[in-house]
Amino acid sequence: MKPSTSQLDANGRLRHLLTLDGLPQATILALLDRAEALRAQSRGGTVPLNLLRGRTVMNLFFEPSTRTRTSFDLAAQRLGAQVINFDIAHSSTVKGESLLDTVHTLEAMHADAFVVRHKESGTPGFIAANLRSGAAVLNAGDGSHAHPTQGLLDALTLRQYRPDFSALRIAICGDIRHSRVARSDVHAFCALGVRELRLCAPPELAPDAAEFPQCRILNDFDQAIAGVDVAIMLRLQKERMQAAAIPSEAEYFHRYGLSTQRLARAAPECLVMHPGPINRGVEIASDVADGPQSLILEQVANGVNLRMAVLAELLAAKA
Ligand code: ASP
Repeated sequence: MKPSTSQLDANGRLRHLLTLDGLPQATILALLDRAEALRAQSRGGTVPLNLLRGRTVMNLFFEPSTRTRTSFDLAAQRLGAQVINFDIAHSSTVKGESLLDTVHTLEAMHADAFVVRHKESGTPGFIAANLRSGAAVLNAGDGSHAHPTQGLLDALTLRQYRPDFSALRIAICGDIRHSRVARSDVHAFCALGVRELRLCAPPELAPDAAEFPQCRILNDFDQAIAGVDVAIMLRLQKERMQAAAIPSEAEYFHRYGLSTQRLARAAPECLVMHPGPINRGVEIASDVADGPQSLILEQVANGVNLRMAVLAELLAAKA
């Protein structure tokens, strides 16, 4: 899905957010700081702000979403923007209208930002390259390519508990091959200088090692989790698999599920994260997901703050 466009302007400022790949550390840190500032200013979302009053944000989700869509919607509203949640299933997309005709139609009604989720990698970049106005495009997850706001909110959450990234050993475990979250997490954590990054997946779901020269790629979960400070668990992305790539969910849990016993192999007080949706008893046991080391709901809460920061950054830059 080419062509794509640069997400930075000539002065190095964000005009779109398409990927964390190559995003400077300073830009990432500024977004995390802004998220913290907006969290404080809005008192956790209880005090409405008007930074984006008069702005229109259009959510275009061509794939299902619970957290990302709701939090982009809330983030925009908490900044005073008007939000349109475009209803794909009841739109002219089902009558055969093309993606670009749909986008240009919505653009003609005036949009300041398009938040785009699509099953095909590269779609947000393609839209950004073909816009006729100065609207910003925010990638809300495209295929297996990138989920930049998830990478940023994971970094934000982690920083609240472990501010020194240079001391952290992190394992990301599960269906790495199909995971846009894994890719964006790796880009964020590497930019922030983590000590060690391990990627663990069954051989069938392991990534191409050449794509991740900064990471240790492992197939043995017990080895991957040994001594880590953070374990990030991922769902099996069955919707992106050609055929059943794993034997059975029970077998998968036995080999790759995060149970309390397995967690005991990690560093004491190892933090547990998951972008959701979780499949209990498949990649993570319920007592771990709901346990004291789990940050899963903190990640959700931070998603709103982080998305406020990104929207403010992109739309305020156009003021
Ligand atoms: N919610 C995340 C995503 O959209 C992770 C997942 O679906 O497994 O990529």
